[in-house]
Amino acid sequence: MNFKKFFSTIFQQTKSESPKLKPDDFTKKYLIDYLLSLDTIYKNKSNQGLKFEYFIQILYELAGYQVEITDKSKEVGVDIIAKDNEGQIIFIQCKHHSLSANTPKIVGISDIQKFNGIPGANKKVFITTSFFTGNVNSTQNDYPNIEFIDRKGLLQFINQIVPDLLVEYIFLNNLKENNIKECYKCHNGYIIKKYSETRNYYFYACTNYPNCDYKKEDLSNGHWNKNKRTTQKSNFNSKRSC
Ligand SMILES: [Zn+2]
Repeated sequence: MNFKKFFSTIFQQTKSESPKLKPDDFTKKYLIDYLLSLDTIYKNKSNQGLKFEYFIQILYELAGYQVEITDKSKEVGVDIIAKDNEGQIIFIQCKHHSLSANTPKIVGISDIQKFNGIPGANKKVFITTSFFTGNVNSTQNDYPNIEFIDRKGLLQFINQIVPDLLVEYIFLNNLKENNIKECYKCHNGYIIKKYSETRNYYFYACTNYPNCDYKKEDLSNGHWNKNKRTTQKSNFNSKRSC
């Protein structure tokens, strides 16, 4: 399945849940969701590699390239073929490695040599979510036709094409680390934990109050009336170690 088919399928699924969703918003949502799960380790690793390819294809499309996905690309041994508006052919090789793996993988020289040997492109790009080994970095000049993009380069690349995306990603990633979620009710505010002095209990509320009345008791310590500040300050930030 190519990414356009994949994309229209998940767009239809998401649209059935949020009927007002526009294709542009959806593209942004897809890109951000992907970035937020970049280092999540799934059982199905090939699926994750494919999602990375889709992510890169979308970025190249947004950058104005024509992205070609043909069976031929499989024979050629290249992940993505892009064409710029002057008709120049660009081969793009994608290597997804999670940096949160116990022993994260890095891209070595053999992958580069193999990619370098594939004929038929005016330019080549090797993109990884990980890093290149020292051998690759010290011999980059031997491959003037290849552009090397590692994790940091990937963020710079995104920043060039859709700068807003990176800001949104950093913002949402920050919320995730602090265990704060977008409000389910108004989708405008954020759900934070609060403490009622008068009633002596913790609860969750929307930052958009009084415009949004989302409220939920914090039941993490059992019954609400046992849920007093004296028990434990909060398990809200329990993931953090000081
Ligand atoms: Zn709200």
